[in-house]
Amino acid sequence: MTPDPLSWIDEISEQRRRLGLERGLIPLGPGRTGRAEHQGGDLIDFASNDYLGLSGDPRVIAAAIREAERHGWGAGASPLVSGWKDAHQELSDALAAFERTEAVVLFPTGYAANLGTISALVGPGDAVFIDRLDHSSLVQGARLSGAALRVYPHGDLDRLVTALDRGRDRHRRILIATDGVFSMDGDLAPLPELVGIAERFGAMLLVDEAHGTGVLGPDGRGAASALGVADRVPIRVGTLSKALGSIGGFVAGSRRLVDHLINHAPTLIYSTALPAPAAAAARRALRIVVEEPWRRDRIQELGRRLRDRLRDGGYAVPESTGPIVPVLLGDSASAVTLSLALRAERMIVPAIRPPTVPRGSARLRIGLSTSHLDSDLDALVDAMVRLKPR
Ligand SMILES: *Cc1c(COP(=O)(O)O)cnc(C)c1O
Repeated sequence: MTPDPLSWIDEISEQRRRLGLERGLIPLGPGRTGRAEHQGGDLIDFASNDYLGLSGDPRVIAAAIREAERHGWGAGASPLVSGWKDAHQELSDALAAFERTEAVVLFPTGYAANLGTISALVGPGDAVFIDRLDHSSLVQGARLSGAALRVYPHGDLDRLVTALDRGRDRHRRILIATDGVFSMDGDLAPLPELVGIAERFGAMLLVDEAHGTGVLGPDGRGAASALGVADRVPIRVGTLSKALGSIGGFVAGSRRLVDHLINHAPTLIYSTALPAPAAAAARRALRIVVEEPWRRDRIQELGRRLRDRLRDGGYAVPESTGPIVPVLLGDSASAVTLSLALRAERMIVPAIRPPTVPRGSARLRIGLSTSHLDSDLDALVDAMVRLKPR
């Protein structure tokens, strides 16, 4: 009998179980945002990135349905063939106006936007500099491109400058790529300084606004706008799948940049365009972001209250702003135990462990939404204080 060529997987899954790292998919039933039905009861969902509660907004849903009835569900082809519909163009134009850039182009997801953009901008002989806590899609984009990958410790701009000093003559093009809001801790990148460094070294600068779009800044444009440097960030990546409640990714920048991506980004050229109803839904959500600034105020207010109350309860809550509230627990076992105990009280709060975060810094990551009620927050704080590990 020939050996089973997939049997090596068993060993890896055994090891995963031994280390308590096994994860699986949990199907959740319907519920308004911030809630989900599971095994006959209601769960409060503190794991979602639907920060403004827009994925369930009746106006967003209606826009998607109208578009599906007009164009069908699937786009049927990649954008350069026949998958680009007027819904895509209208969303791109609306996003460009919102971002105050010349142009915007859409990708199937935010992940695909980063992969495609980085690999269209750099290649062998170039270098990409990324923060240690940057999102996986930036790291994988750099790997896919074939450029040299240089990782600097989180927020350590001295190390970045030293590495740039050393690297600038050795590489043809240099790209600095960073999360605007870091996805696990909700802290902001030092963008004013990064913009200055990029300009000084003649490097391209990409800021991934996945967790900033719709949430941060005076008009909801994200971290760069909150820090007053949006117009000095030439490559801005965003997602439609977090605060905008839909699915898809986008890049905002100059006409020159966007035309280059349309012609050279593999994840745009060789992948089917996102469904037109998803584009229509995102466009409606964008209008709500602009017209209802109270949502941004509410999310900041909820975040402030939760941070204060958890600190009062004796938890280590690092500085951050907005809807992502990290709670440091140290070892993975404490984080997992607390997450499971909260689960038993019908609350979803994910434990984040190495290698996603550095060793010894396992944590809970609480994601807030405008759909959370004051009583949801009370229930969470009450349970966490009661269940606090000693
Ligand atoms: C979620 C996320 C992405 C990926 O966006 P999707 O639209 O979900 O694919 C990219 N970058 C960061 C920082 C993210 O948090």
